[in-house]
Amino acid sequence: MTSAFFFFFPLMYNPVLHSYRHPEQNGVSPLDERLQELKARLGEIQDLERAGAVLAWDQQTYMPAGGAVARAEQMATLQKTAHTWFIADEIGEMLEALSKSGSDWDYDSDEASLVRVVGRDYQKARKIPPDLVAELARVSALAYEAWVKARQESDFSQFRPHLERIVDLNIQVAEALGYEDRIYDPLLDLYEPEMKADQVAALFDELKVVTVPLIKAISERADAVDDSMLHKPTDVQKQWDFGVQVIQDFGFDFDRGRQDRSPHPFTTSFSVGDVRLTTRLDPDYFPAALFGSLHECGHGLYEQGLSPSLERTSLADGASLGVHESQSRLWENLVGRSRAFWSHYFSRLQGVFPEQLGDVDDERFYRAINRVEPSLIRVEADEVTYNLHVMLRFELENDMLEGKVRIADLPEAWNAKMQGYLGIVPPDGASGVLQDVHWSGGMFGYFPTYSLGNMFSVQFFDKAKSDISLLIDQIAAGQFEELLDWLRRNVHQHGRKYTPAELVKRVTGNELTAANYLAYIKAKFSEIYGLGSP
Ligand code: ZN
Repeated sequence: MTSAFFFFFPLMYNPVLHSYRHPEQNGVSPLDERLQELKARLGEIQDLERAGAVLAWDQQTYMPAGGAVARAEQMATLQKTAHTWFIADEIGEMLEALSKSGSDWDYDSDEASLVRVVGRDYQKARKIPPDLVAELARVSALAYEAWVKARQESDFSQFRPHLERIVDLNIQVAEALGYEDRIYDPLLDLYEPEMKADQVAALFDELKVVTVPLIKAISERADAVDDSMLHKPTDVQKQWDFGVQVIQDFGFDFDRGRQDRSPHPFTTSFSVGDVRLTTRLDPDYFPAALFGSLHECGHGLYEQGLSPSLERTSLADGASLGVHESQSRLWENLVGRSRAFWSHYFSRLQGVFPEQLGDVDDERFYRAINRVEPSLIRVEADEVTYNLHVMLRFELENDMLEGKVRIADLPEAWNAKMQGYLGIVPPDGASGVLQDVHWSGGMFGYFPTYSLGNMFSVQFFDKAKSDISLLIDQIAAGQFEELLDWLRRNVHQHGRKYTPAELVKRVTGNELTAANYLAYIKAKFSEIYGLGSP
């Protein structure tokens, strides 16, 4: 996904009329009436947010460049209006009254969760002036167009003034929200509720300790894996069709969603019944489209798996971006890059691309798609080096917000970190500092959620494996119903009811940890590269 989240505030709330009723003497209770009133108000706000999502999706898929200026104003108006309606005093009064009178609601109920989660959103949103929301939306919409062009021409100077403005606005947002330790904290909290920059830094240190020597050991055995067959030209329509077949097998429902092309793949959702995926096609490297589709499908399955009772409410969304990313990474990597998966699908792919893959077997292909090599582009990075790309961005974001690096010097700072972490330097801005869409979208504090997602994904998958004894056999047979059902029951249906910390504890019994992820990559890649016992 990147995601459903081109929105500044997590989507707000609404009313699908619940059948829930407190039995009281004359029909509808005052409590119920108040709840319906709140839901009606929040529902209208939700409609504006989702209409904005349609505009954002359109901008990144079909809108001609000439639409940019007007679109910026349209999105700014929608977001400002939604924000102004949400921070109204009456919403706060309704929330307060409901949190008192509804105190005997079960913690897990839709009602209690609504009041609890929207209450937290409200406290944050009240601190942000509507004009600041509008300005960030307007500046971001224009910055996106500038970024697309700057990236095409590999010219950072075209994007620089936009980024300067965006950093400045993010600082204003962080100051308005307030923080105790680091200016990064309130921004991170918008994407990963209750997570702190220092916790992220500690988890990243754990990853680094294992990852850096693992990459070094692998680099000494680099010729153990040959991936030349992945770089042969292929027909893009065949790429598209094969990806669609796999995501249908995963369980993506095309009656409640669709897939289109965009420069930067993302997923967004207009309702539980309308989930949009995008992918990009590269005629010279078919894994980009294939794994891009599997990844975005993981996000889409989460959105399609939300409980219908949460529809048109702000609970109809992922628990956090990290948890959202856990779903995409689970399907992309833990399923889609596994030996079991390709024992089923390789012969099918070989049938689609006989010229390119005719003389390859499934074992060679499995190794090829898991080849580890320090590379320039995050979205195409292997599972071992991926998190280093994220750490680099996390550190640069902190430096920009804390004024430790000037935006004009960002390309040099980026390249220096690439050299430090991965030993390579981008030849141009397009494959370096300009590669990601996030900053142009006004989003700071978002990147760490990618690595948190990797960690969540393995924790969830390990639990699914212990709950479903035949899981790997099922994957090897191209059967995913039981896995999807497990994810729906344990993760998807709850939407935003639980914080990420609450959810991972409920599902796995543990807190978020780097341990499962590290055990997974050590075992998998030591075996592929013959590094001896991990
Ligand atoms: Zn994603």
